[in-house]
Order: sequence, then C-alpha cells, then structure tokens
Amino acid sequence: MVSYFLRCPGCGQSFSDHYTLDCPSGCNALLRAVYTERRLTLRDLPGVFRYSGWLPIEGHLEIDAGPVSYESEGLARELGLSHLTITFSGYWPERGANMETCSFKELEAQPTMLRLREKGAGVIQVSSAGNTGRAFCQVSALTGAPVVIVVPAHAADRLWTTVPAENVCLITVEGDYSDSIALGREVCALPGIVPEGGAKNVARRDGMGTVMLDGTVSAGRLPDYYFQAVGSGTGGIAAWEAAERLIADGRFGSRLPALHLSQNLPFVPMVRAHEAGRREIVADDMPDAGASIARVSADVLTNRHPPWGLRGGVFDALAASGGRMYAVANEDARDAGRFFFETEEIDLDPAAAVAVASLARAVEEGLVDPRKHVLLNVTGGGYERAAEDLDRFQIEPLIQIGAGETLDEAIRGDIRTWLNEVAGRA
Ligand SMILES: *Cc1c(COP(=O)(O)O)cnc(C)c1O
Ligand SMILES: [Zn+2]
Repeated sequence: MVSYFLRCPGCGQSFSDHYTLDCPSGCNALLRAVYTERRLTLRDLPGVFRYSGWLPIEGHLEIDAGPVSYESEGLARELGLSHLTITFSGYWPERGANMETCSFKELEAQPTMLRLREKGAGVIQVSSAGNTGRAFCQVSALTGAPVVIVVPAHAADRLWTTVPAENVCLITVEGDYSDSIALGREVCALPGIVPEGGAKNVARRDGMGTVMLDGTVSAGRLPDYYFQAVGSGTGGIAAWEAAERLIADGRFGSRLPALHLSQNLPFVPMVRAHEAGRREIVADDMPDAGASIARVSADVLTNRHPPWGLRGGVFDALAASGGRMYAVANEDARDAGRFFFETEEIDLDPAAAVAVASLARAVEEGLVDPRKHVLLNVTGGGYERAAEDLDRFQIEPLIQIGAGETLDEAIRGDIRTWLNEVAGRA
C-alpha cells in the first residue's frame, strides 16, 4: 500500500509521486505530501525515521540522526519562561543527538536521498554554501549513494564528513553562491542528474518538519510559539505544515503555533518584505546584497531567492499563524550564542544563535507570553564536541571551475565519466 500521495494547493489536483517537484499543470505553488495515516504513529526506527509515517518514503535508512527535544531549565530560567522546549539538531551525544555534521540539514538529506532511491529518479545534485552540502555528503558516505555537490570555491573547506565519502562529485566554482546555483542548474541538464529541489522538495520540508513533530511529542502538545532563524524559510514552512497535520491528528491542540522567524542583519530581505506586508521581495529589501551578505555572521541565512510569495510559501505560513520576524545584529547573535553555552552547555551554529537572540528579544519586548509554550528550533550546534570526538574527512574537489567559465564539453565528459564509475561501483 502506498502511504502518501502529492497534492497541489493551487489547483487541488492529486497525483502519485515520481520525485515530482512541480505541479503538472504549472501552478506556482508548493506541492504537499498527503499521508494516509492521519494520526501520527511513531515507528521503532532510528533517528528521523521514527516519523516515517509522515515522510514521503516507504522504507528507512540505518542512520540514527534525528532531532532531540528536551525541556530547558537553564535558558528557560534565565529568560523567565515557564515552558521552553528546545529541539536540538546537531552533535550532542549526552542528549542522544547524533547529527555528526552538526545541522538540521541532515533531517532533509536523509529522507531526500531515500525518496530519490525509491523513485529511481537518478543522482542528486545539490548547490550549497555549507551545511546542506555537508549533510548530503554525510548521507552519501553512510549509504554509498552518489551525490553531485556544487559550491563556491571559498566554501569548499566546509565540506567534510565523519566517515570517508567515496561517491561525492564535488565541483567548486570561482564566485558566490548564486554562481554555484547557476552552474548546478547546468549540471542538472545532464541525463541521470536531478536537482535536489529546495523548498519544492516535499522530503526536504517534511524532514525538517520532524522538528515540530519531535518538539510536540516531547511536550505532549503543540507549542504556542515556534522560533527559528531562516535563510530560505523552508524550515518555517515545514513547521507550519507539520503543525497542520498535528492539528488534524486531534491529540495535540487545535491552534497553529505562531512562527517567530529571524534573519541576520544586514541581510534581512524577508524581514523587510514582512514589515511592508508585501507578498513580493523587491530589490529594496536587499540593498547592496553582496556587501550585506559578506557582513552577516550566519551566512547560511543569506538566500537571495527564498520561497516567500508563492502559494504555501513563507508569507502564507506567517500570515496563517499570526507570526513575526526579527532582524538580529551579529553582536546580539554572538552574545546569545555565549549565553546559550553558559545556560545549556553546548556550542551553537551562528544561525541557531540568531534564533536564540530573537527569543531573548521577544521576551524582553513582551512579544510572547512567558507562561505559554515555546519551541526553540536549535538548527545546528555541537561543532566543538564533534571536533573533539569524531574523525573529519575533507572532501576534495573533482572539478574546479574558474571565474566566468561555463560547463564546457570537457567538463561534461568528466562528470559523465564519474557517473559511469559510481554506477559501476554500485
Ligand atoms: C539552513 C539553516 C538554517 C535556515 O534554514 P531554512 O529554514 O532553510 O531557512 C538555519 N540554521 C542552520 C544551522 C541552517 O543550516
Ligand atoms: Zn496545480
């Protein structure tokens, strides 16, 4: 029996999944997975696969790396919050958190790679400046499934795994994130290579949505507020979708948690569009984009084309939940990261520190009721712990592309040769 199908919220059509990223009728809307299980049934499976009833997959992977939730004492006391659930994605063995690449992008990479395998869709291509690419390399290393990663050359050192990755084709591009996205698109024109899909990928969203599931199961009820730092906002959309499923389940409450989403100054396009009440992000929302991006401390939060205005996107998620946005300065994020380390005793990804800073500000300014239930999505952390405990294997580039160069026939040939090699090893 198939456990889910896809539905387009634009035209209402339903169809079966063939690693489908877009509505066949061309709607500008995010497809959703609709699961036959209306009640959340936890599986006795490792990590994120505990929630496989609400993931667009049929099987599971033997990887024990899921979100971990607990009731905060230290941070909650310092902030004066009665009910603060922290859902941690990263490396923190004392709490059972085993995401060895230290970010919640592993929640996305695991179901995405499995969905691709189950649908026989091909070899996945990912353009990422860091955490996403590393998460996909790690899942590749653990499962043997091949991946093609395209990154800006200056970010290549962030691509490492904790076990050797034999089936990664790493392509570096001289330029910034936008250049690597453009080149990634060209790579996907090669037969047998498919794009990861970003926010359009239901496995990505429902994988990230397990944070809401885990936090809710842990607290026994839906939170009133959900805090997360966003770059694309996909995690916010995912939290909203997961909360809607939990409401339909009936056992966890009937109100959508208000999404409290934060970005890092000076690059805050979604905050600006939200303040203006605009469904479009315009050029004025990101003045001097390049220079602004270079100045933020959490550069995983610097997406120039977030899924903001389309149907089912971040704008809709904020509107549906009565949410808010925060613009956080580097200095405040740094202080919040330090404060978190002192109160909860784990180091944070700079992006997670932005979320903590937004929570502190919300409390200070009375934007949340301190007696209500808060879910804080700690999207990454434990790098210092991981560096102490784990091996680190740097991924070496297979192909290096210079400034202004495009994908010529010689490079295409190199990628085809690699594809044949990994196919031969499989
Ligand atoms: C990607 C990332 C984010 C932002 O996630 P989106 O929901 O895609 O905007 C936040 N924190 C960390 C650590 C990330 O890697
Ligand atoms: Zn449609």
